[in-house]
Amino acid sequence: MTQPNDSSKPKADRLPSVRGMNDMLPAEAGLWEFFEDSIRAWMHCYGYQQIRTPILEHTRVFTRGIGEVTDIVEKEMYTFNDALNGESLTLRPENTASVVRAVIEHNLLHEGPKRLWYYGPMFRHERPQRGRYRQFYQVGVEALGFAGPDIDGEMLLMCNRLWEDLGLENIQLQLNTLGNAEERAQHRRALVEYFTAHHDALDEDSQRRLQTNPLRILDSKNPAMQALIEGAPKLLDLVGAESRAHFEGVQKILRDAGVPYKINPRLVRGLDYYNLTVFEWVTDQLGAQGTVCGGGRYDPLIAQMGGKPAPALGLAMGVERILELLKARGEEGYKPQTDVYVVHQGAGAQAAAFRVAEGLRDAGLDVLLHCGEGGFKAQFKKADASGAAFAVVIGEDEVKQQKASVKSLREQSHDGQQVKVPFKDLPDYLSEQLLGSEDDDSDEA
Ligand code: ATP
Ligand code: MG
Repeated sequence: MTQPNDSSKPKADRLPSVRGMNDMLPAEAGLWEFFEDSIRAWMHCYGYQQIRTPILEHTRVFTRGIGEVTDIVEKEMYTFNDALNGESLTLRPENTASVVRAVIEHNLLHEGPKRLWYYGPMFRHERPQRGRYRQFYQVGVEALGFAGPDIDGEMLLMCNRLWEDLGLENIQLQLNTLGNAEERAQHRRALVEYFTAHHDALDEDSQRRLQTNPLRILDSKNPAMQALIEGAPKLLDLVGAESRAHFEGVQKILRDAGVPYKINPRLVRGLDYYNLTVFEWVTDQLGAQGTVCGGGRYDPLIAQMGGKPAPALGLAMGVERILELLKARGEEGYKPQTDVYVVHQGAGAQAAAFRVAEGLRDAGLDVLLHCGEGGFKAQFKKADASGAAFAVVIGEDEVKQQKASVKSLREQSHDGQQVKVPFKDLPDYLSEQLLGSEDDDSDEA
C-alpha cells in the first residue's frame, strides 16, 4: 500500500535509463547528423530506396526469419506478450527479417528486383560493453531479386566508397563462400564427424551446438576453442563448380576495382539464412568489437518466409562502432554552425528582431533569436558561446534608423568592429559575408 505524502519523505528516486540503452546527447548530435547525411547521399549514389518497418513485429517474423538456433533468437530477443491481446511481440533485433516480411506483404518484387536501405535502432539483450549495447543503430541495405555475383561485388565497392567518403582507413574486407545447401549439408556432416572426435575439447556452448547447429561452432569467440576450430574441415574445400564461379565473379569485381580483401574460410556469420557470399569489414581499432559491417547472400530466405522464391543479399553496419572510429580521428568539424545570433533590447526592438530573424531564415540562414531576459552584455556572452558567425544587434537607435549593427564573432580582424546595415539589406549582406567566410575556411575543410 502507498503511504500518504509527508514532507520528511526522501527525494524521489532517480530514474535511470535501461542498462545498455544510451541517450544521444546534443554534444554528439553533430557527429550523428554528419554520419546520417553521408549515408543518405551514399544510398542515393547507388540508387537504393529507403524502407522503414515497425520496430515491433510478431515474434514469429524473427524465429522464422533468423532461425531458432541462433544466438539472437535463443537468448538476445526482447520478447513479451501484449498485455491487451496476448500476442507475442518482439523488438526487432535486426531488420532483414522485417524488410523481407514487408516486401512479401506488399508484393514489392512484382515489378522486378529492388535495392532497399534502412536505418534505425535494433534491440538485443546482450552483455553491454564497448561497442555492444542493448539498443544500437544499424544502417543496412538489401538487394532483392538479384542472382549474379555482380550485385555482390557492387555492394562491396559501395562499402569501400563509404569508408572513403567518411575518411576511415584500416577497415579490411574478409570474404568467404558458404556454397549451396547441398555443399553445406556435406560440410555439416564433415564437421559433426570432426567435432565428435574431439568432443571432450569442446566448451559447453559448442557441445550443445554440435547437436543443433554445428556450423555455429566455427563462430565461437572462446579463445580456448580457436586451435580446434582452425583444424576443422573447410567448406571452401568442398564447394562445387557453380558456387566457386559465383565466388570468383565477386572477387574479379574487387580485383578490377583495386579493393583489397582477404579470404577467411572461418567466416560463417551468426545467422542461419546465409549462402554463397558472406563478408565482414573489420578493424583492429575497436578492441574485441572489431566488426563494423557484415552481410552476405540469403537466397533461401524469401521463400522460407512465405514469399515467391527470389535471390537476395544484404549487409548491416553498426553505427555506434563507426561513430567511434570517426571520433577517434579527433576532428572537430561535426558541430552544426549557427549563422547569426540576434541580440535585441529596448522599445520596439523585440518586434524588429522577430521581423529581421524571420527575414534571414527566409533567405536560408540559420538564426538564433535571443529569448528571455538579459541586457546587451549578457546577450553578447550567449552570442559568443553559441558559435554563431555574426551577431545582429537591434536596440532603440537601430529601430529608429531601421538599421542593425552587425558584428563578426569569429574573425579576429573584425574584432569589435560593427557595421550598420539597413534591415532590408541584411539577408543579402549576411549571405555574402557567410559565403566569403566559407571560402576562407575552405582549406581547413
Ligand atoms: P557479433 O558477432 O559482434 O555479435 P553479429 O554477427 O551479431 O555481431 P550482425 O547481426 O551481423 O552482428 O549485425 C551487423 C553489425 O551490427 C555488426 O557487425 C556490428 O557492427 C553491429 N552490432 C551487432 N550487435 C551489436 C550490438 N549489440 N551493439 C552494437 N552494435 C552491434
Ligand atoms: Mg551478435
